[in-house]
Amino acid sequence: MEFDALVVGCGFSGAVCARVLAEEYGLRVRILDKRSHIAGNMYDEKDEHGILVHRYGPHIFHTNSEEAFSYIKPFSDWFFYEHRVLGRIRDKLVPIPFNFKSIDTLFPAEKAESLKAKLPAVFPGREKVTVSELVAASDAELAELGRFVFDYVFKNYTAKQWGTPVETLDSGVINRVPVVLSYDDRYFQDAIQMTPKDGFTALFENLLDHPNISVALGCDAKLHLSLDTEAGTMQFDGRPFEGICIYTGPADELFDFVYGPLPYRSLHMVFEHHDKTSFQPVSVVNYPNDGDFTRITEFKKLTAQKKTGSTTVMYEYPRAYVRGSAEAGIPYYAILNQKNRELHAKYAALAEKIPGLHLCGRLADYAYYNMDAAILAALRLARSVVK
Ligand SMILES: Cc1cc2nc3c(=O)[nH]c(=O)nc-3n(C[C@H](O)[C@H](O)[C@H](O)COP(=O)(O)OP(=O)(O)OC[C@H]3O[C@@H](n4cnc5c(N)ncnc54)[C@H](O)[C@@H]3O)c2cc1C
Repeated sequence: MEFDALVVGCGFSGAVCARVLAEEYGLRVRILDKRSHIAGNMYDEKDEHGILVHRYGPHIFHTNSEEAFSYIKPFSDWFFYEHRVLGRIRDKLVPIPFNFKSIDTLFPAEKAESLKAKLPAVFPGREKVTVSELVAASDAELAELGRFVFDYVFKNYTAKQWGTPVETLDSGVINRVPVVLSYDDRYFQDAIQMTPKDGFTALFENLLDHPNISVALGCDAKLHLSLDTEAGTMQFDGRPFEGICIYTGPADELFDFVYGPLPYRSLHMVFEHHDKTSFQPVSVVNYPNDGDFTRITEFKKLTAQKKTGSTTVMYEYPRAYVRGSAEAGIPYYAILNQKNRELHAKYAALAEKIPGLHLCGRLADYAYYNMDAAILAALRLARSVVK
C-alpha cells in the first residue's frame, strides 16, 4: 500500500483526522471522497455571477471551544461575523430567536410593555427562557406569549423541516426553543463567531496541503474497501489492509444495510440570482408559516461580499430522503429518536469488530454535529488511534 491510513470522506471530520495523522504522526494518508470536490457539506464556490455560495446550505462557524477554533485558525484568515436571523411572522420581519424587538413589532404597545416588564420579573437573572417554560407559566399573559411563539415561530417551521406534525417529535425539541429576555438579536451567543475570509473550500485546501496527504475525488470507497466482520479484517482493492481506516460516510451504507437503512431527512436547495444589490435585510430570513421552504439565505450578507447590482439567494425546501436518488439522495439530517439510535448502535458494534476501523463524523456517528463538534471529535479520534 502507498498509504498507512485511509480516510473516507473529506468534510471537517475526515480532513482534520487526515491532517493530524499526517502532521503529528508522520503517516501517509489517502483520502477518498465520492463527491467531485473537497470540504464535504462546507463546500462553497463562486457561482456564475461571481458570488461565493454554500452549495449545501448556509454554514456559520461559531463555538465556545478555544481548542476547535485554534486548530483550524491557521488555515485561513478570518473576519468577525455575528449571525442575525429574521422570521416572517404575520407579514412582519422579526428577530429570531424571539426577543423584545419581536414583541414590540408584533403586539400593541401597551401589551408589549407589560410582557417586557413581566418576563424579567418572573424569570429573574435569566438571559433566555424556553417556550415550554413560558407555556407553563402561571401568569396568563406569559403563557399566552409562549403559545404564540409555539404556534407562529416553531410549530409549522418544525413540521416543514421534519415532514411530520410537531406532536410526533421528541419532546426535547420544544424544550430547546428559546425566547430572549432582552434586545439581543444575535442568533448564536458563542464567544467565538468567525468566518473564513476566502470561504470554507479555501480553508480546506490549506488544511489538506501536506506532503503526506493525497486526495482522490469522485471515488466511492465502497468500490475499493471490503470488510469481513467475522474475520475482523479489511481489504483495499483486493489486498489485505492492516492500517488505520477512518470512515466518515453513513454507517448503514458501510455495512450494506444489513440491519436496514437509517432514516434521514434531505433538502432541496433552489438558487436564484437577482440583478439588485440587496434582496433581504439580513443573511437568513425564516419562513415558518408561508411557502414550502423554511428559509432564504442571501450569501453576500453571510460572507461580507460587496458586489453591487447583483445578489444570489437560496430557498431551502426540506424533503424526504430517497437513497440512491440524484435529487433527494443527500442525507442531510439524521432523524434522531430512540429506535434509530438503537439501529445505529448495531452498526457501530459491527465496526468495533474490525481492528483499525473507526467511525467518525455526523454520518458515521448518526448525530447532528456543528462544525466545532465535528472538529473536536476528529481531533480526539485521530490522536487516539495510532498505537
Ligand atoms: C443544512 C445544514 C446547515 C448547517 N449549518 C451549520 C452551521 O451553520 N454551523 C455549523 O457549525 N454546522 C452546520 N451544519 C453542520 C455541518 O454541516 C457538519 O458539522 C459537518 O458537515 C460535519 O462534517 P463531516 O465531515 O462529519 O460530514 P460531511 O461534511 O457530510 O462529510 C462527509 C463526506 O463523506 C463523503 N462520503 C460519504 N460516503 C462516502 C463513500 N462511500 N466514499 C467516499 N466518500 C464518502 C461525502 O461525500 C462527504 O463529502 C449544517 C448542516 C446542515 C445539513
